[in-house]
Amino acid sequence: MSYTIQGETGPWEVVIGLEVHAQVLSKAKLFSGAATAFGAEPNSQVSFVDAGFPGMLPVINEECIAQAVRTGLGLNAEIHLWSRFDRKNYFYADLPQGYQISQYAHPIVGRGAVEITLADGTTKTIGITRLHLEQDAGKSLHDQHPTKSFIDLNRSGVALMEIVSEPDMRSPEEAGAYLAKLRQIMRYLGTCDGNMDEGSMRADVNVSVRRPGEGYRTRCEVKNVNSVKFVMQAVEAEARRQIEVWESGGTVEQETRLFDVARGVTRSMRSKEDAHDYRYFPDPDLPPLVLEQSWVNQLRASLPELPDQRRARYIAMGLTPYDAHVLTIERETAAFFEEVARGRDAKLAANWVTGEYFAALNRLKRSVTDSPVSAKHLGELLDLITDGTLSGKLAKEVFEAMLEADEPPGAIVEKRGLRQVTDAGAIEAAVEAVLAANADKVAEYRAGKDKLFGFFVGQTMKAMAGKGNPALVNEVLKAKLG
Ligand code: ADP
Ligand code: MG
Repeated sequence: MSYTIQGETGPWEVVIGLEVHAQVLSKAKLFSGAATAFGAEPNSQVSFVDAGFPGMLPVINEECIAQAVRTGLGLNAEIHLWSRFDRKNYFYADLPQGYQISQYAHPIVGRGAVEITLADGTTKTIGITRLHLEQDAGKSLHDQHPTKSFIDLNRSGVALMEIVSEPDMRSPEEAGAYLAKLRQIMRYLGTCDGNMDEGSMRADVNVSVRRPGEGYRTRCEVKNVNSVKFVMQAVEAEARRQIEVWESGGTVEQETRLFDVARGVTRSMRSKEDAHDYRYFPDPDLPPLVLEQSWVNQLRASLPELPDQRRARYIAMGLTPYDAHVLTIERETAAFFEEVARGRDAKLAANWVTGEYFAALNRLKRSVTDSPVSAKHLGELLDLITDGTLSGKLAKEVFEAMLEADEPPGAIVEKRGLRQVTDAGAIEAAVEAVLAANADKVAEYRAGKDKLFGFFVGQTMKAMAGKGNPALVNEVLKAKLG
């Protein structure tokens, strides 16, 4: 069922295309050697190039190019062996050069495609139009002093990848899933850290509405949205606004808008600028960027396994599509799972990681990278289940103890005497004692009150301090009562 919004005059379809700015993960900037670390003292990571000093010349950073190519490959996109840097001219106080170096006419990456998975399990392919490299601008701070504005140039010149999608998304959910997928792919590749709250990724969200079956109508662009949740909210708010405009007989004008998070509405920022306003021209300081196919091939050969491939591999290992999905969302989670599962039953490992382990992380507000239990020890716990030392119930008890101190589960079992009892003699003795002490209930059971069986199991387990092997306890009870 396709997503529509019901207006006063009938249903409307929503059309969405995203321009995502992703900060390249690199030690140095795109055209200078200044550092890029987040949170540094203002203006402590600024070279003469980044500050726009006269006579300074840009020198391209090879690692940033490699990161853009890796990202392009991860987006199943064409890599352009010939690309070029242009100047995009405009004035802004935090743009000391008076222009931004950006790949306008000839981007390094062309058409590609990304597959998204929706909550109902269906998938959809979203087209990538292009990816180009550009410099970030500095940052103006207007709220630090009553009468002054401050400028921090640390971000000036940092490499950004702008990833432009086709207008292929049709619902807030699809837009959110697409942004999350881009983030996931880049985190797997190690080309962008994806930390949206630090500004490493932000999206310009283009939205239009139309009657089902119609061609595209005018779009508006909602600038700088910085979380998956806000992208979804911004799409919905902007679509509803446009529907009201059309339905009241007005016309949607193409413009740039801002999303007001607190009020959940978009506001006009400026009318849309056109490309010619920026007077683009090829940067005379930079020759065209020419890549060798063999270098691109090398980068391709050294790509890590990507989320889609990894998910498919987990399904082939016998995991459910859902488990395969949740275990691959973060690369770190997948690595943890693989260490637990190595040489063991993959399904058992998946059950424990997505079950007890995830629940514990939630409860303790910890993450896989700050894990209270090592993958090695969790794996050893599974071995104790598989070899019959622990029942599922005892294993949970041992796991709780592991959360307190990440000790080897074998040591916890010995120290607390938690080993499961599988000795038939010991179980028979316990069962006989329970039956003897409850002669009245035994008579009732034999007279047909089947439900009492659970009572006998409970009493036997209690007598054995919870350590009886559940299957054997059941078996012995059946035999003695039958
Ligand atoms: P600009 O830089 O002028 O914003 P781009 O071509 O770089 O233009 O980006 C346009 C973005 O708008 C793309 O993500 C594209 O998918 C999206 N888009 C284009 N037409 C529509 C439309 N009618 N409705 C929604 N999104 C659209
Ligand atoms: Mg735009």
